[in-house]
Amino acid sequence: MKLICIGRNYTEHIKELKNEKPADPVVFLKPDTAVLLKKQPFFIPDFSNDVHYEVEVLVKINRVGKHIDKKFAHKYYNEIGLGIDFTARDVQSALKAKGLPWEKAKSFDGAAVIGNWIPKNEIENLDALKFSLKRNDSVVQKGDTSLMLWKIDELIEYVSKYFTLKIGDIIFTGTPAGVGRVFPNDKLTGLIEQREMFSITVK
Ligand code: MG
Repeated sequence: MKLICIGRNYTEHIKELKNEKPADPVVFLKPDTAVLLKKQPFFIPDFSNDVHYEVEVLVKINRVGKHIDKKFAHKYYNEIGLGIDFTARDVQSALKAKGLPWEKAKSFDGAAVIGNWIPKNEIENLDALKFSLKRNDSVVQKGDTSLMLWKIDELIEYVSKYFTLKIGDIIFTGTPAGVGRVFPNDKLTGLIEQREMFSITVK
């Protein structure tokens, strides 16, 4: 199982990190060892002093495919979820400055939170889905999939040019604005509309 992650998919988040708007989706992978095990806390790794949460809508692939046209992309997933793309921002900034790959900043153990899943047919409009992240009692990120630069079906078309999609693969569709640092004892709760999708503690 692989996690295919999209970067820079929301304009306001591109601005907050002072990145350029990409001509094509930014794509990176996380290995299955990055998945935070259910009911486990997230441990801030000792190689970073600035780990950020990034809440993202997830898509679970349920059919093998390659070179998928966006018209048919909806046939390749049945469930939508919510997760966190944890990012060691200090490590990532150093790697970006040197033009190096991001894996050390993004793909370490526990860096991928995967919450519960909702059947796609329970969602009225996938391209206007509201989601949010609470850090302790404050809402720190609010997203709406209508603001994605590339929508879910377009992302499937794009990434399947490069990678064969397999059953169980998960696409992280990018984070909206509001990313920030996590601290020990934080509680992070993710919601789609009013529905709680995950709740984790930070150690
Ligand atoms: Mg991200």
